[in-house]
Amino acid sequence: MTPVDATAGLVRPRDDIALMAGYHSPQLDVAVRLNTNESPLPPPAAFADAVAAATRSVVWNRYPDRQAAELRSRIAARHGVAPDQVFAANGSNEVLQCLLLAYGGPGRSAVVFEPTYALHSHLARVTGTAVVEGERGEDFTLDPDAAEALMDSARPAVTFLCSPNNPSGTVEPRSVVASLLDTAASTSGLLCVDEAYAEFAPHSALDFVDDETPLAVTRTYSKTWAMAGARLGYLVGPAWLVAELEKVALPYHLDALKQAVGITALEFVDDMQARVGAIVAERTRLADRLGGLPVDVWPSGANFVLMRPRGRDGADVWKQLVDRSVLVRNCSSWPRLDGCLRVTVGTRQEDDRFLAALEEILA
Ligand SMILES: *Cc1c(COP(=O)(O)O)cnc(C)c1O
Repeated sequence: MTPVDATAGLVRPRDDIALMAGYHSPQLDVAVRLNTNESPLPPPAAFADAVAAATRSVVWNRYPDRQAAELRSRIAARHGVAPDQVFAANGSNEVLQCLLLAYGGPGRSAVVFEPTYALHSHLARVTGTAVVEGERGEDFTLDPDAAEALMDSARPAVTFLCSPNNPSGTVEPRSVVASLLDTAASTSGLLCVDEAYAEFAPHSALDFVDDETPLAVTRTYSKTWAMAGARLGYLVGPAWLVAELEKVALPYHLDALKQAVGITALEFVDDMQARVGAIVAERTRLADRLGGLPVDVWPSGANFVLMRPRGRDGADVWKQLVDRSVLVRNCSSWPRLDGCLRVTVGTRQEDDRFLAALEEILA
């Protein structure tokens, strides 16, 4: 076979896709992995047993329940909303993609407040939605007046607010969420609050959700539920919005086993909450210890902490951590995050290993 020059493809992709870089989260084979905000512990053993039992009742030869009715009604019950106010998909990333397929697209725009989760602008571009970038302050908080002015002028179809924000950990005050929501409503746009880390934070935007409010709150099983491997996420929002998302999702997008797994997990809420409590306590310990080192640390309401080694090259510190078999997220070359590293809260042992390595490097 003649080798194919991939750059000279005979079939051209869309021009905007051809110019795009894909989303990457580099993985390395190291002893301590604190780079993707996963749970350091697997779900409880009883969960694995319950999943095994649930597997036996899966009807493999039939298509799954397209509406995922039971899963949605269990999630709805957990949040005190109606099942038709819940839309579930393969990870909250697919939820966000469906939101943009239905509400974004050519001639429409999405507002993001940088620095924030890269998938919001990436998925906007993939769906042909123009991206309008707002700025967070030096301390990564949002200026509600500036945000309102931007939304008033851009009139975006969707405004993304990530709270707690990835990668800074910043939790938006409820008053700011309320003010963005008013602006979204008055400019005929939607506010999407990405709450991938909400369980680690002091408050949520969920109680602003009702059928009269253009608000969608997204959640994921990936972080809190220690189930990044399962790919399951959901949105809570008005029933009219959920109805539109159902039109753009692929038929039977949630397989039968995943629906069963998602239902089963909800029987372990107490275990999950205990783990979240332990991670929040460990986050406080980690942040306190970092406070004693020559690094800047930002307050976090998530299961990670953003930090910047003072007077040092962030990429070099990252590399030296890798040399000591500790992997954190290297944000040092990302716009507005000059020199920053993001570290996921791990087990006490993992965090101690990270701290010991960092101390050695910064000594
Ligand atoms: C990790 C993360 C997600 C999770 O995406 P899934 O597709 O549910 O795994 C969503 N939003 C943010 C901000 C995240 O950091």
